[in-house]
Amino acid sequence: MGASTLLDLLYPPACLLCQDRLEAWHPPFCPVCLDSFQPAQGAPVCFDVQGHPAAFETARAPWQYAGPMIQAVHDFKYRQQRRIGRWLSQTMAEQAENELPIDQVDAIVPVPTSWPKARWRGMSAPAFLARDLSKRWRKPLKTRLLRQRWFAVSQTRLSRSLRQRNAAASHRFGAGHARRLRILLIDDVLTTGSTANACARLLKEAGASRVFVLSAARTPAGAGR
Ligand SMILES: [Zn+2]
Repeated sequence: MGASTLLDLLYPPACLLCQDRLEAWHPPFCPVCLDSFQPAQGAPVCFDVQGHPAAFETARAPWQYAGPMIQAVHDFKYRQQRRIGRWLSQTMAEQAENELPIDQVDAIVPVPTSWPKARWRGMSAPAFLARDLSKRWRKPLKTRLLRQRWFAVSQTRLSRSLRQRNAAASHRFGAGHARRLRILLIDDVLTTGSTANACARLLKEAGASRVFVLSAARTPAGAGR
């Protein structure tokens, strides 16, 4: 019995979003749901955070955080759907391999989170994605490089200005040793970019030479601003 047959017996293949039966084990979504995911299109959003140039070089995401992708990301983050996480990290990898200088990256760093709902079994969603990518590319995973002291309120429930203030405050923590490292910073969803920017700035202050940002999805241009 092949591994996939065994898996089919254990978990009859069904689309993780609409529950329709799947013909094949992979991918985890039916063709209709897959088609409904919108690629993040056009030039990367210019993250002009409070009038200052972004501390990171560029940000990439394979998907727009819109429509059924919102549910998919939610199921990954809050319902511990690891198969969605693995699929997201694969699509992130495919895009990054085309659009980012992955061979030059020295370390992979997840955006830290301490919001309890976003953590499961000791791992946050960004850390899950970062671990997958670090295995794929055989790059060091540095989960302790950025340490979050506190994260009082969910970022997603705050207004933009509050979110920026919260991000600035909550990331006022020490970054570890990052001297001369070229870092790929991983997040699940990029909204205003202020959190990623705060992390990138800390990494730069700790000596990182370049920071690239890769997230699974990003809000459509203009949204959340
Ligand atoms: Zn489906």
